[in-house]
Amino acid sequence: MRPESLFPLFKSVSTLKGIGPRLQALIGKVAGDHIIDLAFHLPAGLVSRVRLEQLSETALTRQVIVKALVRQHTPSRNRRIPYRVVCQVGDDLLTLTFFNGREDYLRRQLPEGSLRLISGKLEQYSGEFQITHPDHILSPDEEDLIPVHEPVYPLTAGLTNGALIKASRQYMETVPQLPEWIDPALLQREKWESWKACLEKAHTPEGEGDLSPNAPARQRLAYDELLSNQLALELVRRSMKRKPGRALVGNGSLRDAIERSLPFKLTHAQNVALSEIFADLSAPHRMLRLLQGDVGSGKTVVAVMAIAQAIEAGAQAALMAPTEILARQHMAAITPLAEAVGLKTALLTGRLKGKKRDAVLQQLASGEIHIAIGTHALFQDDVIYHDLGLAIIDEQHRFGVHQRLALSSKGRDGNGGVDVLVMTATPIPRTLALTAYGDMDVSIIAEKPPGRKPVDTRAIEVERLDDVAGSLGRKLKDGERIYWVCPLVEESEVSDLAAAEDRFGYLERLYPGQVGLVHGKMKADEKDTAMERFVSGETRILVATTVIEVGVDVPEATVMIIEHAERFGLAQLHQLRGRVGRGGLHGACLLLYAGPLGETQKARLNIMRETEDGFRIAEEDLRLRGAGELLGTRQSGLPVFKMADLQEHGRLLSIARDDARVFLENDKALATPRGQAVRTLLYLFERDSAIKYLQSG
Ligand code: ADP
Ligand code: MG
Repeated sequence: MRPESLFPLFKSVSTLKGIGPRLQALIGKVAGDHIIDLAFHLPAGLVSRVRLEQLSETALTRQVIVKALVRQHTPSRNRRIPYRVVCQVGDDLLTLTFFNGREDYLRRQLPEGSLRLISGKLEQYSGEFQITHPDHILSPDEEDLIPVHEPVYPLTAGLTNGALIKASRQYMETVPQLPEWIDPALLQREKWESWKACLEKAHTPEGEGDLSPNAPARQRLAYDELLSNQLALELVRRSMKRKPGRALVGNGSLRDAIERSLPFKLTHAQNVALSEIFADLSAPHRMLRLLQGDVGSGKTVVAVMAIAQAIEAGAQAALMAPTEILARQHMAAITPLAEAVGLKTALLTGRLKGKKRDAVLQQLASGEIHIAIGTHALFQDDVIYHDLGLAIIDEQHRFGVHQRLALSSKGRDGNGGVDVLVMTATPIPRTLALTAYGDMDVSIIAEKPPGRKPVDTRAIEVERLDDVAGSLGRKLKDGERIYWVCPLVEESEVSDLAAAEDRFGYLERLYPGQVGLVHGKMKADEKDTAMERFVSGETRILVATTVIEVGVDVPEATVMIIEHAERFGLAQLHQLRGRVGRGGLHGACLLLYAGPLGETQKARLNIMRETEDGFRIAEEDLRLRGAGELLGTRQSGLPVFKMADLQEHGRLLSIARDDARVFLENDKALATPRGQAVRTLLYLFERDSAIKYLQSG
């Protein structure tokens, strides 16, 4: 239950005076529906005013407050000429100008002969001081009503800054003083004030420095959010680890046999990852480990070795891929290795039906099948394992945390929980990985197997498309295969498809009978068929609209052509390029672009030409786009932060991680006073669902 102290913050913004349905909708758009969303909608700018007794050229273009004697109105009958009101400030004249000014209104605001306080931006026009559309016109005793510093909020059409300022004055009155959840020593070291004080400060900047992500108030608010993120992940992690795991201790016999059968030596990076995995498997707690490695870094063989140890210990293993075709590819890669040492594999996907499926289920239940490979069909209710000990999930970003948890429930009662290894080819910057996978231990394969030749990457103007297409003939003669990726236009799948079909027709005329097409509107099995024809070499050029299945391995593919490369994100470009040059042949990646390019687009294409290092590319991506958009964050299940900016607050993130670990170690049930405050924090950032993972008793 949400603590009562937070109730005022979770009221609808419509409970504020002056906020009706229209404003509510606009606020919903920029911030959210609740007071707390408004409270977390921090100013992006600031207007600072200076009080002037005398006008002066040095104050030009600044926001000023002056006391002015109103001298004379000059109304205008012409729309293009402004209404002018001449005033006197000290010895100087100041002209106030109003476009489309209404005379009756202005005469009431600015009676001739009266003294008025005026604020606005001081400018000069034909040698005269001037303020156009003053933002405040008040009587001299109302000076307090003109704020010297005024926050400027991010807005949307129809929403005024004034409305948000008014709202913030109102709700600030009801913002509660919350119990302190930050470690007192840290609070002192950073010299942070209370949450409430920091929130107030963040909304009342008095200089540019206060707007910086590194301003103390903003740092504290960011830290609070990062701490809540890390606490939630740590709670999940602890709950997973707490469930009795089992020690999958092998004798090394299968592992050694498989390693001997490999045509290559494992790389150092693979060996390091393996020793971490072996240690986890052997330990009596549950493994929850992320194996990160760029495309082609050799994760599959690591997975197979992990599986071997689980089987040596008498358990079964399952490997789940996000799509049918990827599952089949794993099946094709793993089965020979498994069979060579006497292990039996089976494929279980949604397409397996009837008697065949029954047979597989029966053999899984009897333990005859050692390794099940498939899609989420592996974990349907009626699938019963004889003794599942290890679950491996490939391509994490397509699955959510919940699937990850559901999975681990397939173990045999009494034998303890299933060990989980998640593999991802998406390079994620360290900071982001911590916020998304803080609940997992991480192994990284940063080194690629030897002998990989670099992919020759070029950016080419789309005007040269005919040359590019014409040059493919030689490659085809040599038996090489080519991907041709067509622009991805999110708003219109229809024109997307049209473009791909056009390109397909064009290439088919050049290279009759050798071109295939795969697009997002195809049914899954049509897609698979098109992919398979390309894999088998029946077609040699594959035109694709959607991103080609991550992870599909076609060793003969050497050329990746990406049309309108400027429209793709870096992570996507990198994933696509990773499809080629895998078979020891020289790969080429041609980035066809339509100019003129914006700065970011140019930077992206340059980075692609400079490096093939997935982690460096991910860091650059984060820099160019910000974490919010990285990898299509929302779909990927990566967290979105309101207060924290991962680029600015990386230091705070690691403090939060350590603090979350140490704190929960000492207060497992959130029972101490600080534990109670931490609960409030989790509710404040709506990460309270993690509370159900609390250790009971
Ligand atoms: P990933 O799944 O990480 O994208 P794979 O496991 O598919 O990569 O490996 C890519 C290719 O590299 C495969 O053909 C695999 O046989 C090969 N490979 C893996 N490890 C090594 C190694 N240590 N030395 C040489 N080749 C390797
Ligand atoms: Mg793979």
